[in-house]
Amino acid sequence: MKMEQKGKPRILIVDDEKMNLKVLADLLKDDYSPVLARDGEQALQHAFGDSPPDLILLDVVMPDMGGYEVVKRLKNSDRTKNIPVIFVTALDSVIDEEHGLKLGAVDYITKPFSPPIVKIRVHNHLRIVHQYKLLDQLAYLDGLTEISNRRRFEEYFKREWTRSARSITPFSLAMVDVDFFKPFNDHYGHAMGDRTLQKIAKALDSALMRPADLIARYGGEEFVMMLPETDAFAAKGVTERALQKVVELNIPHHYSQVAEYVTVSIGLVTTLIDDTLTPETFVAAADKNLYLAKENGRNRVVASAIGF
Ligand code: GH3
Ligand code: MG
Ligand code: MG
Repeated sequence: MKMEQKGKPRILIVDDEKMNLKVLADLLKDDYSPVLARDGEQALQHAFGDSPPDLILLDVVMPDMGGYEVVKRLKNSDRTKNIPVIFVTALDSVIDEEHGLKLGAVDYITKPFSPPIVKIRVHNHLRIVHQYKLLDQLAYLDGLTEISNRRRFEEYFKREWTRSARSITPFSLAMVDVDFFKPFNDHYGHAMGDRTLQKIAKALDSALMRPADLIARYGGEEFVMMLPETDAFAAKGVTERALQKVVELNIPHHYSQVAEYVTVSIGLVTTLIDDTLTPETFVAAADKNLYLAKENGRNRVVASAIGF
């Protein structure tokens, strides 16, 4: 999952006066990519669309749907409530300003505005959003391996599970556990163990090919690979490749009973999600396969399918 965004920040400019749109777009187009809307409806379409803006400059007085109503609707949805909104309006009373800010706008600029000040305010608010996003990303990363953490997995899993149930596509999940890692730590030391976990995380990650796939540290020396919209055959391919990537690290492990180097065992399960299956039973099925992989000699994938 790539979480950073590419390209210039998108600024949605909403105003019923063509001239105002042009002035603001010209002012911002060097540093940002402006998207224009002539009324509240259009503004909401952009905000709820596939590539939502990073910030909105919003006129207050417009026919049909005014700016206050637009903000109320943005604030009402989790998808749009964090997009910063700056009112740009001819309404210059303190009452108007207070009302706009109370609705959740981050700033309030009155017309006629000073172009450099609009630029600076836009810049400042985007920087704040950027810093929030960085903090947010940190909260979802595992400190040791820098891949996703358990919390990120749980949230993403819930979301993809629901989506997968709706779209009736196969869904695969693999639990990965390092083989004989206790003796590894005992003999090579905890610091070496930590470095090995970092390398294993990278190796497992390198086996994933699709943007929707997720690798996370599940806890200790266990990892989880989530493969939405992936059938049993393809998932077997991915997990076998992951297993091989770890072997190729070629980290010596003289205290493993199955190889001369560090290996992992993988429990894989694939399903077509239906009402009878819960995420918990699905994870339990992957765990059971992991247990079987350990029982059957480790350094292998054990896979099964549910509900086909
Ligand atoms: P098995 O093949 O059955 O999985 O054997 P194992 O030794 O890997 O299993 P066990 O669950 O007994 O041991 C897991 C070990 O993983 C225990 C602990 O020392 C080590 N471990 C867990 N988390 C970390 C970590 O963050 N850093 C390091 N260095 N070691 C860890
Ligand atoms: Mg374990
Ligand atoms: Mg283990």
